[in-house]
Amino acid sequence: MTERLYYENAYLWEFDGTVKRTREGKKPGTREIALDRSAFYPTSGGQPFDTGRMVFDGGEAEVTGVEADRDGEVWHTVSRAIPEGTAVHGLIDGKRRTDHMEQHGGEHMLAGAVWEKLQGTTIGLHLGPEDSTIDVELPGERTHLTEEEIRMLEDTVNERIRLDAPIRCWFPAAEELASLPLRKAPTVSEHVRIVAMGDFEMVACGGTHPSSTGRIGMIKILSVTPARGKARIAFVCGGRAAALFQKYMRCADKAGAALSCPVDKLSRTASELKSRLAEAERTANRYATKELLEKFRQAESTEDVKGITLSAVTAEETDARAVSAAVSEYIGDKGKILLLAVGEKLTFARSADVKADMAELIRRVGRGGGRPDLAGGAGIPECVNVARKILKTEMK
Ligand SMILES: [Zn+2]
Repeated sequence: MTERLYYENAYLWEFDGTVKRTREGKKPGTREIALDRSAFYPTSGGQPFDTGRMVFDGGEAEVTGVEADRDGEVWHTVSRAIPEGTAVHGLIDGKRRTDHMEQHGGEHMLAGAVWEKLQGTTIGLHLGPEDSTIDVELPGERTHLTEEEIRMLEDTVNERIRLDAPIRCWFPAAEELASLPLRKAPTVSEHVRIVAMGDFEMVACGGTHPSSTGRIGMIKILSVTPARGKARIAFVCGGRAAALFQKYMRCADKAGAALSCPVDKLSRTASELKSRLAEAERTANRYATKELLEKFRQAESTEDVKGITLSAVTAEETDARAVSAAVSEYIGDKGKILLLAVGEKLTFARSADVKADMAELIRRVGRGGGRPDLAGGAGIPECVNVARKILKTEMK
């Protein structure tokens, strides 16, 4: 069983040990080694493994994975073979581990606050590359939190972080363990390790933790979404929270500059602009509709088909709502047929009193379909002239 040096000191980035066992790695070409003692954290409890290097007489190897087996042996995946009995100097990527400790420490604080303030039980932690999540079982099978509750949880945790209360980890004797006010019962029965954060969080945990709550930095809840009957809370802590704040501030500043308004007026300014844009679009469409109608009327001919005014028009691309409004208005009059190509979009339409099947006509000259009085489809602009000739020949 490997002696786990991070239990005593979670900020131990360098240590000495000896290779006790070696084996083939799970991925082809890799090797795994177990030492007598190690400060590398193996993936467990939702916290990912440490990475780093092993330096030894004759070279060095990258550590690309760490996991513990059932017997408590910690296995390091290394980039090259290191023989049994070799003395190694382990070097841990402290930046990666500090980030993990900030997220993991924040998770404890959040789970503690959820329990104390909302009587919610935290089921699991997932520490991801971007953010972390916990699943919370809330009374009454609630799967959401209100805005006020989210704010209250953030404020509670952040105030406790600023208190910079000590974080202590230890292995209590059975008698002491039985007397401790744990947030939830331990999942193991032997070698139970307890973590206590100030007087607001105490639970069994074998993970790595900052030495005081202040080193968690801050917490920001990102979202609360339902997940399998529980509320899934996504959050970031420490350096990730600071980086996110910087990113959001940059975005907000840029948006404010683009809209020429202070950041706190962004949402009001954006809604005002949106409604002004919608109004401007409505006005532009009214003009486009009027222009199209004039075009339809200019192209009218009463000679092609007896008793019917036929208008064959090709127009440039324009707003579909304007086209639709102009067509409806045009065929609202009696005795009209409209053959319209806007770009490659065809619209064939007729007044209610005219007897001709526009859907059939559109299928004969291009692609499409619809009702006998109003059909739409696609084809080259020349289609309208072909359709006009068909009507001229067949409706004489
Ligand atoms: Zn922990």
